[in-house]
Amino acid sequence: MAHSHDDHSGHNHVWADDLTKNQGLVLGALAHSDGPLSAYDILDKLRGDGLRAPLQVYRALDKLVERGLAHRLESLNAFVACADEHCHRSGLIAFAICEGCGKVDEFADAVIEERLGDWAGQKDFKVERTTMEIRGRCGACVAA
Ligand SMILES: [Zn+2]
Ligand SMILES: [Zn+2]
Repeated sequence: MAHSHDDHSGHNHVWADDLTKNQGLVLGALAHSDGPLSAYDILDKLRGDGLRAPLQVYRALDKLVERGLAHRLESLNAFVACADEHCHRSGLIAFAICEGCGKVDEFADAVIEERLGDWAGQKDFKVERTTMEIRGRCGACVAA
């Protein structure tokens, strides 16, 4: 069965079976959202599910980010579900953020990663994670 990364509604997202209830709820909210969500957006969506305190959301987000199931977009102070259920990346993660519609595309690029790796090697810099955020307009917004 073909599956698109844009389809977050199906059963094809069994990211991990050992999530806590709150982690599952938070990841579900992210996966069903069209764009990045702040912790407060998530809290708003999950009030009906029994989440009341921002701390509950932050704790769940911390774990999800740590495991690579969700990513934090620093420039937006918001979160997205990982677009690739097999990625759980520790290397370079890049995001193209559309300022028109808010869409975020996650991708990886082996060439950039290799370049950064060479640079880090020369500088004896130990890279723990690399997140690139590219701001601009997506194809659909440029065409509109
Ligand atoms: Zn990812
Ligand atoms: Zn757009």
